[in-house]
Amino acid sequence: MRKTIAELVAVLCDEHDVEVRGGRLHREDGLIPKLRESMRASMGMTHGGHSLAHERSTLNLAAFTLYEHVTFTAGLMLGQVLVAGDDPVDRRDPEGSLRRWLEEWTLAVHRGETNDAQEALARRRLSDLAARIDQVLAPTRVAEILGACPNPGCGERYWPTDTQGSRTSALYAVLVPGEPVQARCHWCDTQWTGEAELEQLNTAINRQEKTA
Ligand SMILES: [Zn+2]
Repeated sequence: MRKTIAELVAVLCDEHDVEVRGGRLHREDGLIPKLRESMRASMGMTHGGHSLAHERSTLNLAAFTLYEHVTFTAGLMLGQVLVAGDDPVDRRDPEGSLRRWLEEWTLAVHRGETNDAQEALARRRLSDLAARIDQVLAPTRVAEILGACPNPGCGERYWPTDTQGSRTSALYAVLVPGEPVQARCHWCDTQWTGEAELEQLNTAINRQEKTA
């Protein structure tokens, strides 16, 4: 369903529910705070592995450039609805700019001062910001891990991807730049996070393959 302008601003700025696999709802922070957090995280933290260093620096550059764009766009939108004499707003604060913009926009809608073209432009700008942040935050790479899930009671090896018999490995690795590598099972949702746990998973798979 198409989001309202207020919902788009909320997705960008505030905590909100996101539907995840299986239709469950997951509480997530706003996209702009998440983007800022990813910049902070990628600056000083190490995850015990050098393999992610390149991913981190790539993410870093993309995140910083995008953050500037978001701040600029939010300030631009706000500038278009403010009139002389309004309280000044810190335009380096994108959430502040967008929240204030939404207040002014909502008032203008109630006064009948907006038109369809303006609404379409605002919606396009907000959707575009959300889509770009999503892209930078989740250039997630997924790789299959061969072998059966070692979780007792699961033991699945494959996961069907359609009803025609296509399948992928039950176990898969998720690599999100700036975060520890993680392995998961499609069937039982068991997670192995970080290199040490992945090593344990690897050992468990190898042990199973030998006894199989
Ligand atoms: Zn499993």
